[in-house]
Amino acid sequence: LLEGTLALVLSVFFGVACFRRTKSGLHHELNRALDAGEFVAYLQPMMNREGTQVTGCEVLVRWMHPELGLIRPDRFIPLAEDSGLIVPMTRELMRQVREAMGPRAAALPPHFHFSFNIAASHCHDLSLIEDCRSFLAAFSANPVNLVLELTERELIVPDETTIQLFDELDRMGVSVAIDDFGTGHSSLVYLQQFKVDFLKIDQSFVARIGSDALSRHIVDNVVDLASRLDLSLVAEGVETPEQAEYLMARGVDFQQGYLYGCPVPLADFWLEAKLP
Ligand code: C2E
Ligand code: CA
Ligand code: CA
Ligand code: CA
Repeated sequence: LLEGTLALVLSVFFGVACFRRTKSGLHHELNRALDAGEFVAYLQPMMNREGTQVTGCEVLVRWMHPELGLIRPDRFIPLAEDSGLIVPMTRELMRQVREAMGPRAAALPPHFHFSFNIAASHCHDLSLIEDCRSFLAAFSANPVNLVLELTERELIVPDETTIQLFDELDRMGVSVAIDDFGTGHSSLVYLQQFKVDFLKIDQSFVARIGSDALSRHIVDNVVDLASRLDLSLVAEGVETPEQAEYLMARGVDFQQGYLYGCPVPLADFWLEAKLP
């Protein structure tokens, strides 16, 4: 416990102090970590409506720091975005997943989903097209559904490159999900512009399903919106059977959360559902 606390204190100090003093020092540290292979892909299962089958997974990055241990993404993603390192870091995650799972493609259920989180700044970089192409090519034996998650917390201001990027991704069959849905202010035009396929109901609403009527109301409204716009729905942060039942009854298409499985290293990811 003491070690954990020390690591936490160090990482907080490290993050804040370094960022304030020398931004470039931290960028250098992130670059070093990327070269050293310290950014590792973890997978969290995504379940079907009934919560009985693993239909896909979300890729979540972890920084395995040699001194500080495991660092959660909230602590370094903003810095990686700021330094432009988010692009090669995401590429590295895609590489890890396709190299581990590509050879097992035949064992995957048909149209298995692989979801990657994409930062707003990444949406102005056409190299994402090539990265997605390489990913899909690794699964040509049994095509998968590649999904890019864009968070609603950070609205993307589309320029010409962004529009070209999303048109091309759409032609390639890459899907787009709006993450943390309900917390931001994306308009219908926005959903159209990015040719959105999935909405992910933010976990804060799912967490309060059993306890407050407003959250239930928000969930019901998102379900309604999704069905009217013909979008698939994912609920994240599902932790209790009561939440799962509520979402199932509302016809939410996919579920994700600790009830079904935490994010785990690639080697520990199981394709079979471990029922709660
Ligand atoms: P997110 O995309 O909304 O991911 C969901 C977060 O909730 C993850 O935290 C996940 O571990 C956690 N979670 C999953 N199930 C449950 C549950 O049942 N209950 C609760 N309380 N939490 C649950 P994590 O892995 O720490 O990631 C935090 C955020 O960092 C992500 O939020 C995402 O915005 C960002 N992130 C993670 N990996 C990447 C990445 O590779 N690239 C980018 N650009 N952002 C990433
Ligand atoms: Ca996400
Ligand atoms: Ca989310
Ligand atoms: Ca689409």
